[in-house]
Amino acid sequence: MKKILLIVMDGLGDRGCDDLRGLTPLQFIRNPNMDWFVEHGSAGICDPIAPGIRPGSDTAHLAILGYDVQSIYSGRGPFEAIGAEMDIQPGDIALRCNFAYVSDDMEVLDRRAGRIKAPETTELVDALNDLEIDGVEFIVKESTDHRAALVLRGYGLDERITDVDPQGDNVLKTCEPLCEEAEFTAEVVNKFMVECYNRLKNHPTNRKRMAAGLPPANILVPRGAGSFPYIEPFPYIHGISACCVSGVGMIKGICKACGIDVYPLPESCNGGLDTDFIMKADCALEALEDYDFVLMNCKAPDIAGHDGDAKLKSEVVKRLDAMMGHIRKNMPDDLVIVMTCDHCTPCSLKDHSGDPVPIAIYTKGCLRDEAKEFSESGCCHGFLGRIRGRDIVPICMDLANRTEKYGS
Ligand SMILES: [Zn+2]
Repeated sequence: MKKILLIVMDGLGDRGCDDLRGLTPLQFIRNPNMDWFVEHGSAGICDPIAPGIRPGSDTAHLAILGYDVQSIYSGRGPFEAIGAEMDIQPGDIALRCNFAYVSDDMEVLDRRAGRIKAPETTELVDALNDLEIDGVEFIVKESTDHRAALVLRGYGLDERITDVDPQGDNVLKTCEPLCEEAEFTAEVVNKFMVECYNRLKNHPTNRKRMAAGLPPANILVPRGAGSFPYIEPFPYIHGISACCVSGVGMIKGICKACGIDVYPLPESCNGGLDTDFIMKADCALEALEDYDFVLMNCKAPDIAGHDGDAKLKSEVVKRLDAMMGHIRKNMPDDLVIVMTCDHCTPCSLKDHSGDPVPIAIYTKGCLRDEAKEFSESGCCHGFLGRIRGRDIVPICMDLANRTEKYGS
């Protein structure tokens, strides 16, 4: 039996970019190492969820892990909370939050509070953590950068509430119930907003920030309420041990929720643009010594896509190609290796799109097809054809000789 390394290059797929003579970053940059895996393996294109569906990174990862997304997904909050290593219980409601800077009349002056991060966010969170409103416990934990997760624990809660986060608008919204059962939840969230502002506005950390000319983080702005879903553990479904190599809280959270262990990465392998891909690859290869299945997420291309910076994304592609060269040199013989993306993040959109993504699967002795290039168009020539995210794990399990015959 072989082991499986599933590499998800987050948001790597693109559309034609004006800055790249109408090509995508993958088409524009020569990627000899990525191409090697395509040339020696099987390629295709993949709709992470279904054609035309614009996935989030969370729903796309769940789909790629083989789950029926619609039946388990109830909002991003629970995954942010698990990613922040919060201990969630069934019945809890979780929301994602931004630390933000607002005026007294709740006008948003900076929706990321100058991209505040730990340890300052940790100090602010400490000021909020003994909060109970109408019998509901409010538990806050800082997450990546200016983000945090908020968990509500108590009786009579319901996740069907609107966001406080105004997104494009500039005044915070009142939390509204979407049904009668959620009236109480919306009410306590609104009370929390008042209490949160009162506790943070004159917090010593914020006073220090203002003295230094930085925007204070005087409120938490919640969105994406969801109740914690029950997810059948991935290792149990497939009968394999599994580990995740990612620096992104959200991805770690999803994996944990699926019963997948999280590899402790060094600081240099964070989920940022400057992450050390070579070191991360070494961590993934090391994880493969102990686990049958490793999911590795590389977030940088998504960040460049959201910035709308095609040149920057091309630079990220070059570094990813060097990573694939490193993996090629150091990978064990008995490995099934998959290169794909969780979704496209076209630079022209600065957001995710519903386009299919390229996929290549290589293992020693697999079928070689006509595809030669790891790109959105190059992988179209492959024998995998057009598959869906949920097909990936079964295909890998079969190539790893881990499936049982269906029938006699
Ligand atoms: Zn994204």
